[in-house]
Amino acid sequence: MTYQNFSLKQLQDIDAAHHLHPFTDHKDLRDAGARIITHAQGPFVYDTEGNEILDGMAGLWCVNIGYGRDELADVAYAQMKELPYYNSFFRCSTPSPVLLAQKLAEIAPKNVNQVFYGSSGSEANDTALRLVRHYWALEGKPQKNRIISRKWAYHGSTIAGTSLGGMEAMHGQLHGAVPNIAHVMPPYAFELKEKGESDHDFGLRAARAVEDAILEAGPENVAAFIGEPAMGAGGVKVPPESYWPEIDRICKKHDVLLMLDEVITGYGRTGEWFAAQRLGLEPDTITTAKALTSGYQPLSALLVGDRIAATLVEKGGEFYHGYTYSGHPVACAVALRNLEIIEREGLIERVREDTGPYFAEALEERLAGHGIVGETRSFGLMGAIEIVSHKDTRKRFDGGGAAAVAVRDHAIAEGMMMRAVGNTMILSPPLIWTRETIDMACDRIVRALDKAEIDLR
Ligand code: PLP
Repeated sequence: MTYQNFSLKQLQDIDAAHHLHPFTDHKDLRDAGARIITHAQGPFVYDTEGNEILDGMAGLWCVNIGYGRDELADVAYAQMKELPYYNSFFRCSTPSPVLLAQKLAEIAPKNVNQVFYGSSGSEANDTALRLVRHYWALEGKPQKNRIISRKWAYHGSTIAGTSLGGMEAMHGQLHGAVPNIAHVMPPYAFELKEKGESDHDFGLRAARAVEDAILEAGPENVAAFIGEPAMGAGGVKVPPESYWPEIDRICKKHDVLLMLDEVITGYGRTGEWFAAQRLGLEPDTITTAKALTSGYQPLSALLVGDRIAATLVEKGGEFYHGYTYSGHPVACAVALRNLEIIEREGLIERVREDTGPYFAEALEERLAGHGIVGETRSFGLMGAIEIVSHKDTRKRFDGGGAAAVAVRDHAIAEGMMMRAVGNTMILSPPLIWTRETIDMACDRIVRALDKAEIDLR
């Protein structure tokens, strides 16, 4: 690219004039200008001013194998030369989505053997919603179409994704959600646990909010429960250990399908290929995207359990659903090589046995004691830091999420990319991080917290 011929200011002006960004206040963007990332290598990204920033978010929860992998560029180049595109509609296929589907069936929970491709997590969740409702219709129960989700859930930005999600601000701009989706309390112990309540009991109470919603609607009217194993974009809200077994029991008891959204947790982040395996779940659908290609190509895969797949095949007829880029040959070829790298380099074992536990310990020992930190938590290589003004009472700073934004801005200035969600700092590093990278991140975060505390007090 020839961006080098442009100054930062020129790029920012053109960006502000013509580019509408996702989740951005555009007036703000015009005033402040975008930070423009130009290149990246390993765990670092670099901006136009040459700043090297440790990427604590793996792009946007996706670059699990880190940046600068020539192998993936080579695979994409070769596939583009051989066959850049052909569709997978109307009984056509191309080799790479076929071989990727076989690989996904091999690594998925054992009840999951089919895959439906898209280009994004949002598309995959649209597919999942259509598919579970279609399943019950094929089973002769079209009224069994209600979906139970949670407040604070994030399932994407399309109309179906937003409707499935539980983000209040997003619903406020929806002007008509997909009907028949209910949202119950999330398993967010830090704010919702009652005085004297154990984590275990809170986890059961949060799961039983799902059962209450099922009973209220009547189980004969409820198609599925959808959840992220640990809510990501909602603030890395990691449920107590009692939560998922209870959800599993409730879904089975009421014959409600289990839809797991693993767009963030899929492909190694929690120390297994899928969090479902870590949690001992056999979901009916697993939504995946992001780290399927480590973000090198846009691709999503809705993994479909045998129960739904059998009905779709045996009773289905044509499923009137698909995207031009379902099974895109280049994206699928890149995904295959990405999964091979994850395996070859033992990245999942590393998270499970080494960096995951070390990350949890480092957050706890180096950050949790800080004067403006109320709690740290993690799940594999995803983490959260709660920002508070009073540690004992967990009182927040005034100004909504301004305190967390201050921490984030100081962190970026210290060479540490992390995100602020409400009052929570979130982290989702590439799986290539080592103990040394975790130490480096903690050093930078401590400096950012110190500086933010001076500003805020
Ligand atoms: N589901 C979850 C859990 C996500 O975190 C995201 C994106 O962050 C999505 C769905 C939507 O994915 P996409 O942005 O690729 O549409």
